[in-house]
Amino acid sequence: GGDDPLLQVTGLTVTYPNGVTAVRDVDLRCPKGSATLVVGANGAGKTTLLRALTGTLTSEKIATSAELDRYRGETLLRRSPDELTAAGIALVPERTKVFPGLTAAENLDVVPRRIAAGADRFVTRDDVLELLPRLAAVARTDAALLSGGEKQMLAIGRALLTQPRLLVIDELSLGLAPAIVRDLLEKVATIRGEFGVTVLMVEQAVRAALPVADRVVMLRHGAVVADLAADQWTDASEAALIGGGEV
Ligand code: ATP
Repeated sequence: GGDDPLLQVTGLTVTYPNGVTAVRDVDLRCPKGSATLVVGANGAGKTTLLRALTGTLTSEKIATSAELDRYRGETLLRRSPDELTAAGIALVPERTKVFPGLTAAENLDVVPRRIAAGADRFVTRDDVLELLPRLAAVARTDAALLSGGEKQMLAIGRALLTQPRLLVIDELSLGLAPAIVRDLLEKVATIRGEFGVTVLMVEQAVRAALPVADRVVMLRHGAVVADLAADQWTDASEAALIGGGEV
């Protein structure tokens, strides 16, 4: 039907070999075109959740997990990162992955070109440079010499060139100045609005990210303790996030 979610996760549990259950019976639904913000204290399980959805947790690390993870009606579990990229899921990782020793332009060129997996709009290199003009300015600079914000832009550009339907972003704001975070979040809004990409993001800078999101999911000790519309986020939500009390 028309309101089928792009991604639906039901009862996802992830337990590491050391016995830590980092994600606990999580339900998550991302309708096509939506932007979901995942928040939680350090160690709440945010990164583990994203990694489980992007194939970057190897299956041997998952002791228990649900059968019902669904992305476009197919199971996500035990699929390789390559398979998930081909299916249209792209991860912008927490610690930016760019190739040092290659220029910014070369970093964009080495993204495997794929036939768009039915994405709304085929994203070209020119589209990326128009969205992120700073990358054109530093095109000939070694990626290792880019600022933190520029590296993050490059990681976003690389992710877009894989033609994602679902862009999964882990801590865009990590170590960046507030003005740069605001700028990057505006780009995320554009990626969603103009490129038609569904967004799932983990972000500590909740207030800055709220305008970009339509839902907020709060994790605590791996479990979802709140799932609300972004415009229902209140000071009490913030207090619960920081203090761990009633949501
Ligand atoms: P942060 O904001 O600090 O990145 P997070 O919400 O992303 O935290 P995770 O990194 O997913 O949380 O960690 C959730 C729990 O799983 C923590 O208790 C952490 O110590 C544990 N954990 C994470 N990675 C591993 C691993 N590879 N092996 C064992 N335990 C792990």
